[in-house]
Amino acid sequence: MTAAVDGRPGVRGRLTMRGEPAYEEARVGRVFNARRPDRYPAAVLEAADAEDVAAGVRLAIERGWTVSVRSGGHSWAAWSVRDDALLIDLGALRSLSYDESTGVVAAGPATKGGEELAPYLAARGRAFPGGHCPSVGIGGFLLQGGQGWNGRLNGWACESIVAIDVVTADGELVRADATQHADLYWAARGAGPGFPGIVTRFHLQTYAKPAAMWHDTWTFALDDAEAVIHWLHAVLPTLDRRVEPVMAATRLPDVPLHEGVTHPGGTVLLLHATCMADSDEEARALLAGLGDCPVAGRELGHVTAPTSIEEENAAQAGQNPEGHRYAVDCAWTDAPAETLAPLLLDIWRGLDTEHSFSIWYGWAPTRELPDMAFSVEGNVYVATYLIYSDAADDARYRSRVHAQTAAIARDGGVGVYLGDTDFTARNDRFLSPAHHARLEEIRGARDPHGRIASYLTSDPAGLNVHA
Ligand SMILES: Cc1cc2nc3c(=O)[nH]c(=O)nc-3n(C[C@H](O)[C@H](O)[C@H](O)COP(=O)(O)OP(=O)(O)OC[C@H]3O[C@@H](n4cnc5c(N)ncnc54)[C@H](O)[C@@H]3O)c2cc1C
Repeated sequence: MTAAVDGRPGVRGRLTMRGEPAYEEARVGRVFNARRPDRYPAAVLEAADAEDVAAGVRLAIERGWTVSVRSGGHSWAAWSVRDDALLIDLGALRSLSYDESTGVVAAGPATKGGEELAPYLAARGRAFPGGHCPSVGIGGFLLQGGQGWNGRLNGWACESIVAIDVVTADGELVRADATQHADLYWAARGAGPGFPGIVTRFHLQTYAKPAAMWHDTWTFALDDAEAVIHWLHAVLPTLDRRVEPVMAATRLPDVPLHEGVTHPGGTVLLLHATCMADSDEEARALLAGLGDCPVAGRELGHVTAPTSIEEENAAQAGQNPEGHRYAVDCAWTDAPAETLAPLLLDIWRGLDTEHSFSIWYGWAPTRELPDMAFSVEGNVYVATYLIYSDAADDARYRSRVHAQTAAIARDGGVGVYLGDTDFTARNDRFLSPAHHARLEEIRGARDPHGRIASYLTSDPAGLNVHA
């Protein structure tokens, strides 16, 4: 049966009940991680539009179901798939419209940041700090903060939300911004899956498309990684905010290699710094701010060249292939290089599948965050992605990634970014204690019956606790 429950449709989108033939595809067909959860919603509504989302919430109230939400389906732990809930799938809500007079784009929550929003804006000479991986949906991405291109300069992507259209937990469609429903506006910028409503449209401030984008990429053997880590920790505080320095331990063969140098096999270390600027000369000069590499001459390859968001997105998509199982964890750390290097090397030396990788991202915050739920960040972001195909490896890779990340969290860690977490395996702090308390107050007032599914954790008492 689709599109009707007991002869009372109420909703216009396709409604699929548990047990129906289309259920399994509706349940997990749009989940990026091929490691699908053993959780079973009561029904899935593929909502037609915002009014249909509101009708879905009212239907859930009638039925006594909780409501879970899916925009792009990229949550690693598949937060959208919750037992006995009505899963409202927003996949059809992808409209885009741009207001030239304000530079604000209105975007549906399932819009893909790189594949859809970026080209739409580029055609209008504009840009937005969308996710590094092009297929990520803006819904989950923005609600949890949003670590996007040029983020060191433009801040968290959620800082560029000027308003949201929201279906509340009692099924009402409202606009929230700095002056109306300001509690929802505050929560929408950082609460992630704890947001007590369903966003049906984001209104986002866009930026002028940078005139130039360059990258500076070095390939090193892992034996030189320690020296490189020390170098980057030393230079990070001096780097211009337009330079985004990332080290990635990767096993993909397609890395820069000097002529005559062969790939050593296994894991190598890439230092990939990107920079957006007003001209080619400026971008090159800013990248030169990385200074002199202490192991220059020992690198396996080195390229400085123009690049583009499209090229960078394509590289990210190659590193994050679809149809694979992922075990992922992350940590913010303020630890010095001498503490962090051995922990990173333990992770990097252990990578053992073709696609698995782990990053060190130099974030180095220099300003107070605006008043919004998002409130935890640190000097360096470490995230590890163990990527494999066999379900028999789930337990091994999950326990490895969470144990290795816990070691970083213990020794100088300051918390996590929701985007790369799985609290069914390891909790950590993602909001400051004060912001967590304020969010709980908002949630209590806006959703007193807990209609909208909240954080998925195997240890509710440990939620937002930094061990
Ligand atoms: C390959 C890959 C690359 C990634 N790269 C980046 C990156 O570069 N930067 C970064 O910051 N993150 C990145 N992430 C993490 C990603 O941003 C998060 O997983 C995010 O939650 C994905 O959003 P989504 O809408 O696609 O996910 P979904 O799984 O659809 O949503 C996750 C949860 O967010 C909530 N939610 C989503 N939409 C709404 C809504 N409209 N209203 C209310 N609640 C909602 C729900 O609780 C939902 O279950 C990446 C993830 C993957 C898989």
